[in-house]
Amino acid sequence: MTLGGLETSTLTTSIHPLYQPDRWILEKFPKQEDVCRLVQPAVKLASEVLETKPVMSFFRRIMYIILRKKGGRTCLDREEPEETNEQDVAVQQALVARAKHLRILFGVIDLNYCSKTQAHGITLVSQKWFAEKVFIRGNVDKLPADDYKTHYIVINQAYIDYAKRQRPSASAAVRFIFSLAFTIVHETGHVLYCRNFDDGNEDYNEPYFDLDQHINDEKDGELGYALENVLFKDVGNPSFIKKPALTSNGIR
Ligand SMILES: [Zn+2]
Repeated sequence: MTLGGLETSTLTTSIHPLYQPDRWILEKFPKQEDVCRLVQPAVKLASEVLETKPVMSFFRRIMYIILRKKGGRTCLDREEPEETNEQDVAVQQALVARAKHLRILFGVIDLNYCSKTQAHGITLVSQKWFAEKVFIRGNVDKLPADDYKTHYIVINQAYIDYAKRQRPSASAAVRFIFSLAFTIVHETGHVLYCRNFDDGNEDYNEPYFDLDQHINDEKDGELGYALENVLFKDVGNPSFIKKPALTSNGIR
């Protein structure tokens, strides 16, 4: 199989520290060659996207939060300095520091208990939902002690099952890579927001990125969708389920 010239070397080059092979604690990357052939380009694409201007501006706003209340909702106020170099460095340092305390797993997310918008992935600040709402396959004994300092991105098991079993055409591979990359990027928005959370509380609320981003009358924001909106002016990632679309006036 060829993937139209996509690089298929190892998972160790040009990968952001957040996504390096030892973050994927239950996977044998890069030894799991078949899976790596699809996962590695996605991880590289996600790494590239993290450095782009719109994503950096999103992260700056998460790092330098000024909360504003309006109409019962809380949102992040814009407070962009003219010169952003210093804040950009701080963002990069925070992402690299978080890498030590982040693990990326594949799992089955029970959508009866979690939001249906979490069909692609979910960010967790503890292991409390494991074996209850989120089911991890593999040797969970390898997970670190649940000290709440280690946070998790759990990616839908469907991704790795597909990567293991399928020999996709080049176009199907590109769709897989795009979808996984932007799932990872979406979750990274949550990861940066909750970087200092250490009480294991999974029921925290996120602010709105903008006040006009809301689903009907929901009180909580969704910073992963907000990051996708910054990139695509909408929710860009295709979904396994029907989902609301972001418009300039919010999510409809
Ligand atoms: Zn999200």
